[in-house]
Amino acid sequence: MKNLLQDIAPVTLMGPGPSCVHPSVLAALSKPTLGHLDPEFIRIMDAIKTQLKTLLHTENDLTIPISGTGSAGMECCFVNLIEKDDPVLILVNGVFGMRMQDVATRLGAQVETLEFEWGTPVIVDVVQKKLKEKSYKLVAVVHAETSTGVQNPVPGIGNLLKDSDTLFLVDAVTSFGGMEIRMDDWGIDMLYSGTQKCLSCPPGLSPVSFSPAAVAAIQARKTKVPNWYLDLSLIMNYWEGATRAYHHTAPINMLYGLFQALFLILEEGETQVFERHMENHRRLVQALDQMGIHMVVDASCRLPMLNAVYIPDGVDDAAVRSRLLKTHKIEIGAGLGNFAGKIWRIGLMGHTARAENVDKLAASLKTVC
Ligand SMILES: *Cc1c(COP(=O)(O)O)cnc(C)c1O
Repeated sequence: MKNLLQDIAPVTLMGPGPSCVHPSVLAALSKPTLGHLDPEFIRIMDAIKTQLKTLLHTENDLTIPISGTGSAGMECCFVNLIEKDDPVLILVNGVFGMRMQDVATRLGAQVETLEFEWGTPVIVDVVQKKLKEKSYKLVAVVHAETSTGVQNPVPGIGNLLKDSDTLFLVDAVTSFGGMEIRMDDWGIDMLYSGTQKCLSCPPGLSPVSFSPAAVAAIQARKTKVPNWYLDLSLIMNYWEGATRAYHHTAPINMLYGLFQALFLILEEGETQVFERHMENHRRLVQALDQMGIHMVVDASCRLPMLNAVYIPDGVDDAAVRSRLLKTHKIEIGAGLGNFAGKIWRIGLMGHTARAENVDKLAASLKTVC
């Protein structure tokens, strides 16, 4: 059999994830595999917890990477927190809000949603009104809605929930590593992310963090967590304490990759990393504007790392994306759901957010549009 891996040529990943992986992260993945209870590996696990706490600006002890992609982190939050008939409010303005609704509904929660127009942010006043009518166990929102390119007002929503018993769950899959997150200051109780967006790691891990109030809610459950693999009360025994107990074999080499990716962000400096995302976002908006390609989202709530743009009239969506990939080795994303066929999603996530990539995409788009 031919070795298919021999033919893999690098692609500049400028879609909604995965993003370009830093060479030192790829090198980290190929370090020797240690045993999952080897003291040297446990030191790396502990360091990853510290890195995550630093970058999420949280004191939460329960801050660990879950084995699985961002959706596993989403599932982990809901499956540990939700019991049948729990009242849950989900703020929806894109595909990933809808996915949260699906996950919570499958667990038998009483799910209500507040829906906002795609391409626009959640409106805090509308949420406030809803919270005055009824109290919920949990309110959930997506920080960076990757399906539309919108940033939702997480600090404002968190503010509404401070001093209440309602837990605040935030999807930070696309925002983590690309823009500021202050978990404790913003009153976030549960948060999940993913490695293949702004952390510039391959997909496979989902950093999560739980506040003391969220941990108390898990401990107060009347029923067992229905999913064995994601049951935090079991997983904690592997990630905490002087002696570590086997739960499932940690994806050792993926964790090396995550360590290195977080190391890079801390080394470059958070502020510098966020500024680099912003600068390249501005560079892209300007280049596209000159070509008559316009942004979907208002400048006040645009994501720097996910640029939703209208496909120009008369341009063949699939043909352009396919030519970009075949001829120029650049991947951009198609529209999802309501936006399918209407928009492109151009990612500037993590290691992708560099001027040379913006310039290469702009030049290539000119030849294929
Ligand atoms: C990508 C993404 C997810 C899902 O992550 P997977 O790694 O694909 O499972 C969830 N939420 C948001 C906002 C995302 O961008």
